[in-house]
Amino acid sequence: MTYRIGETHDSKWRSWVDSANDSQTDFPIQNLPFGVFRPGRIGVAIGNQILDLQRCPLPIETAQACSSKSLNQLLALTPAHWSELRLWLSRALRADATDWRENRSRLSEFLVPMNAVEMQVPAEIGDYTDFYASIDHATNVGRLFRPDHPLLPNYKYVPIAYHGRTSSIVISGAPIHRPNGQIKTSAMDAPVFGPSRSLDYELEVAFFIGGGNTLGEPVPIQSAESRIFGLCLLNDWSARDIQSWEYQPLGPFLAKSFATSISPWVVTLEALAPFRTAAYQQSSTLPHLESGENSKQGAIDLILEVLIQSKQICMRLSRTNTKNLYWTMAQMVTHHTSNGCNLLSGDLLATGTVSGPADDERGCLLELTRNGAEPIRLPNGETRSFLEDGDEIILRGYCEREGFVRIGFGECRGTISAARLR
Ligand code: MN
Repeated sequence: MTYRIGETHDSKWRSWVDSANDSQTDFPIQNLPFGVFRPGRIGVAIGNQILDLQRCPLPIETAQACSSKSLNQLLALTPAHWSELRLWLSRALRADATDWRENRSRLSEFLVPMNAVEMQVPAEIGDYTDFYASIDHATNVGRLFRPDHPLLPNYKYVPIAYHGRTSSIVISGAPIHRPNGQIKTSAMDAPVFGPSRSLDYELEVAFFIGGGNTLGEPVPIQSAESRIFGLCLLNDWSARDIQSWEYQPLGPFLAKSFATSISPWVVTLEALAPFRTAAYQQSSTLPHLESGENSKQGAIDLILEVLIQSKQICMRLSRTNTKNLYWTMAQMVTHHTSNGCNLLSGDLLATGTVSGPADDERGCLLELTRNGAEPIRLPNGETRSFLEDGDEIILRGYCEREGFVRIGFGECRGTISAARLR
């Protein structure tokens, strides 16, 4: 299933919330992403405001789900419910709806300025899986360690992933403490325990599972997207020195489980309908990971940016696009469930670092600095091999297409603070 472009995507709509009509806003009326603000209220972003859904006269089946403290109940409903709710919100927030005067007076009381509240992780996340879906990332990283055969032989068959840690997923803006860990460089005979010296970010997109599958029942690729509610930005903070010592033979563990940041607004898959595009793979290696629809429009044309804000200066580090990913979200869901593994509402699946073919499309410092060998020069003369205390990393994402209104994801921010005493 794929969402059709319909009434809610029409570029002619403007909102009676003035800030939603600004051409640069991430949250016009065509977007309507969901989030949760403290102390546990579900809201929808509109311009620089949040509509408090608990107070709105919503359609009956979604009203109860939207009065809870997280998105989980809403995620447990179906795409038909999510569409119905989106249509209700779109109509209620339109400036030129016939009953707009009534809506404005009634709903304007339920608006909360975005800068007056704190956002929180929007769902109780049961499980978090991080993929490795960017072939450019896999190739660039592989080349650092295996120059002769960068891409491992399984890459084009298996959507590679590792199981991440859910308890340390934090909301944008939460401080990121430099982790301590075992570090052993090739020049050392034995490891030492101490603060990571090669702390990195990973530019990623994540998606929330809605309506899981029963244990033992795989999700075929034709219906995989019906299990995806929406997307956010994700920064998979990674301590490369801890990672290189610990990762063999079972994969990353403490190098990544100290913190993972996500952006607060979940952009629905339906809002992204105008920005779907052809998958990277036009024919897949195995039939269960292939469908005509997936090949035709399984990818998303979503522009991603990473910026670094040091004490002195703000600079863009890279810019790429999720359409570069080798594996689509549908393929990730189908692969994940192909052995019968059950995904649950509220699970979070992430793409892995999103890179692209060009040098300025590399989604982490490991790639950009070639594992620290070629430090980045900031405009004020500072250099970076990896992150320093006080550095802030800002992820942004947005979609643009002729004939449609630009929609954005907001930001995912995190500032590095000094390692805690051992
Ligand atoms: Mn990752």
